[in-house]
Amino acid sequence: MPAVTMDQLVSLCKRRGFIFPGSDIYGGLQGTYDFGPLGVELKNNLKAAWWRANVYERDDMEGLDAAILMNRLTWKYSGHEETFTDPLVDCRSCRSRWRADHIKDTCPNCGSKDLTEPRPFNMMFKTQVGPVADDGSYAYLRPETAQGIFVNFNNVLATTSRKLPFGIAQIGKAFRNEINPRNFIFRVREFEQMEIEFFVMPGTEDEWHQRWLDDRLAWWRSVGLSSDNLQVYTVPKADLAHYSKATYDLMYRFPIGFEELEGIASRSDYDLGSHSKEQDSLGLSAKVGRNDDSTAKLTYFDPESKRHLVPFVIEPSAGVDRGVLALLTEAYDEQQIKPVTPERAQAVADALAAFVKSVGRSEKLPAEQRDAMLERAELIGKDMAASMAQIPALLDMPGASSIELGKKLRGQADPALDESYRTVLHLKPALAPIKVAVFPLKRNAPEIVATARQIRKSLQADGDMRTVYDDTGAIGKLYRRQDEIGTPYCITVDFDTIGQGKDATLSGTVTVRDRDTMQQERVPIAELQTYFRGRV
Ligand code: ATP
Repeated sequence: MPAVTMDQLVSLCKRRGFIFPGSDIYGGLQGTYDFGPLGVELKNNLKAAWWRANVYERDDMEGLDAAILMNRLTWKYSGHEETFTDPLVDCRSCRSRWRADHIKDTCPNCGSKDLTEPRPFNMMFKTQVGPVADDGSYAYLRPETAQGIFVNFNNVLATTSRKLPFGIAQIGKAFRNEINPRNFIFRVREFEQMEIEFFVMPGTEDEWHQRWLDDRLAWWRSVGLSSDNLQVYTVPKADLAHYSKATYDLMYRFPIGFEELEGIASRSDYDLGSHSKEQDSLGLSAKVGRNDDSTAKLTYFDPESKRHLVPFVIEPSAGVDRGVLALLTEAYDEQQIKPVTPERAQAVADALAAFVKSVGRSEKLPAEQRDAMLERAELIGKDMAASMAQIPALLDMPGASSIELGKKLRGQADPALDESYRTVLHLKPALAPIKVAVFPLKRNAPEIVATARQIRKSLQADGDMRTVYDDTGAIGKLYRRQDEIGTPYCITVDFDTIGQGKDATLSGTVTVRDRDTMQQERVPIAELQTYFRGRV
């Protein structure tokens, strides 16, 4: 299959209910997305896997859930008020705004080179706190979850009696007023982070930095990302954030190329030091701004040397939304399972050619949308057998709905796709939104329906193995729907199951179908629990 494009993912996510544009019915709000019935499951499963691996399965970690709104001083001393900025440029021709480091001296919208000088733009959202709007009454929506961990350092230490090294893990929302949110959920203004602040003895930070890099890579592989699609980028010294001694960016091969999925920073004693009072007595190695507002020393008493010290910090910080996007990118697959008849193939090719002509002629379409559609259509046309399954994504591209002939193309493509192709999400079973789907072979056979419903109920009752019942189509169609959303197993209850089929030995058994191999086997109902427990 050709590499997955963002359009294919966006189309699948919308079609099947993973992710919708935020506030859609009011024209949307740029940089926001809503996770639908399947998206919320996938996202929760990813977060749960992270929490399990990083909190439950380690013996050196505690969890935390700090408030999103924090005292403004937090962001003064963290350095964000002053330095959490991106370079903003305006295009004087079309008045669009861009991040200077994301464009090459040319406005991507109109091609003009008449741009303003870059100026720093602070990305923190301000919001008013309390009923009186005056200068002092605002707070920021946190742009990262990390600071909630640092300001709670003493609380966690005092209540858990932890010894170094230990970490605090947190998952939560973060907000950044990105100049140019784009690329679906890759760069948004509201997102979630999974962050760890790992506190270590000064002098051991390099070793721990490397260990965390290895650990985090291994974890991303364990949830299904392949080594080929992961890269480590060592951030050059000149590009390091103000607090960082060294940073590794963990890069994933998204449809837009290799981009950051997680940052793993060695933050020295900067954060605890800058939030501490009486800094002169702490022997800090980081250069921090003087703090006359903090009421606490964020230090650790080392029982061996019998002195108070400020731990060094390693911070693995991953984006949940980028994680979901990486999982979808990795899992997405389109397969031809049967040849298309030559007549059908010809009909689709003709409809595609007519659609392309119509797009080329359309006067309603902005040039950018037209060119993008033509480019995609050409790629599909070049190798129709391999790319026919991309036609729905083509028809979901911005602007496509204004092309009349799109309906005709859909009408020709849909039956061919139904018959000969399938889209599959090869998600790891633990991550899949739904683990098992149960179908009745006939929805007007009461005993079959009752048995199917009972199986669903008992599998679900066993625990958190999300199981659904579906009787809204023929079995083939139901299989395809579940393949497309990544359900690893489907169960079909038929006449044999209820002892009314041809083969009496199959009574009390059901067909279990595997998503990836499409193989089917008969499994006794009584053994289903054990069968799935080992597999999902
Ligand atoms: P970028 O350079 O892509 O803007 P960053 O280096 O500013 O990212 P960090 O501050 O290191 O990002 O944040 C940690 C993680 O949070 C990132 O690796 C990413 O997964 C996630 N993240 C950051 N900004 C966004 C965003 N606007 N939308 C979605 N996820 C984000």
